[in-house]
Amino acid sequence: MSKIWVLGDGQLGAMLRHAGMPLDVEVCPIDINADVLPELSPEDKVTAEREQWPSTPVTQALEQHPNFLNRLVFPKLADRVTQKQLLDDLDLSTAPWMVVSDGVDEASIHQQLGDNVLLKRRSGGYDGRGQHWLRSCNNDKIPADWHNHAIAEQAINFDEEVSLIGARDIKGNVVFFPITLNLNTDGILMATVAPVDRIAHLQAEAERMLGKLLESLDYVGVLAMEAFRLGDSLMINELAPRVHNTGHWTQAGSSISQFEYHVRAVAGYPTIPAQIKAPSVMINLIGTPWDERWLAIEGAEVYWYGKDHRPGRKLGHINFCSSDTAQISSQLDQLKDLLPEQYQPAIQWVQTNLT
Ligand code: ATP
Ligand code: MG
Ligand code: MG
Repeated sequence: MSKIWVLGDGQLGAMLRHAGMPLDVEVCPIDINADVLPELSPEDKVTAEREQWPSTPVTQALEQHPNFLNRLVFPKLADRVTQKQLLDDLDLSTAPWMVVSDGVDEASIHQQLGDNVLLKRRSGGYDGRGQHWLRSCNNDKIPADWHNHAIAEQAINFDEEVSLIGARDIKGNVVFFPITLNLNTDGILMATVAPVDRIAHLQAEAERMLGKLLESLDYVGVLAMEAFRLGDSLMINELAPRVHNTGHWTQAGSSISQFEYHVRAVAGYPTIPAQIKAPSVMINLIGTPWDERWLAIEGAEVYWYGKDHRPGRKLGHINFCSSDTAQISSQLDQLKDLLPEQYQPAIQWVQTNLT
């Protein structure tokens, strides 16, 4: 039996563990602050469900293991400066940007990047946290202590947001899911739909971009690429060196989920192309308390993470998959009645984009 240690013990680690079971791969997510150190064997593999981590006895123990895959990729992608430099070096389109270094002020940022600029903390941000808009019309200021800890990005007036999830195995074979269409509201992912016919023509370009990244990083496992669609072209927003929220639909809609791909790749098994079953939808459950009535909706595949309730926190998700999109739509109507008001536009967005 192979054993994979996962640095971090959130929902992504739990879903990796779930995916390892049918393959008899023991996946062990581990709390970075645990008191007891993991007992690592030389043949074990190590991966992570988060992009960065503080130095703790547990993370130090895991980091020292020679089979920590993509070990050097994490710090490179966890800092937005080196991540953006990587995209520039590979000549992959991304929003124009600059480092908010000591001598930089609002005027110089607007001069270089335009009137509307999004400041992003270099590291640690997620779900839109660690972002600050700098609009010249509002006379917005750079927050105190953000100098040297942030980048500035030109505001992109994109048509919509998409993502591509790919996996590469130890032999260098790569596989990709269909491009996913994503709805982010206030920086947090609300819902995804895939596959979507009207964006299928962008698949080859998206695969070229992510393929280049997978190769150049000599990456093993699942890598996610968030992008903006501007007409018929794509601009990379950011990368995540792990399984990704926009790939959760693959639990329902693909013969091999993103979690299984990651387990396969890290364990040294092959990553063959998956069969995509039918149109799929994922709805994130954000700050919404558990509701048993979700389980009574036909077709709803509920994942509940068992985390403490906090407003704005991702607590679970629900997948739907069916070749009968009208059926998904009516199932979503039932779900709509069981979710707070702010879900109405997200569910309507999904229903409009189901093909
Ligand atoms: P995640 O939870 O996906 O890791 P994050 O906090 O790392 O999110 P980003 O993905 O960089 O942040 O940005 C969050 C959202 O903010 C994007 O999905 C998009 O909707 C919006 N956004 C990001 N960059 C820009 C930009 N340059 N112009 C306009 N909108 C942007
Ligand atoms: Mg991010
Ligand atoms: Mg993002």
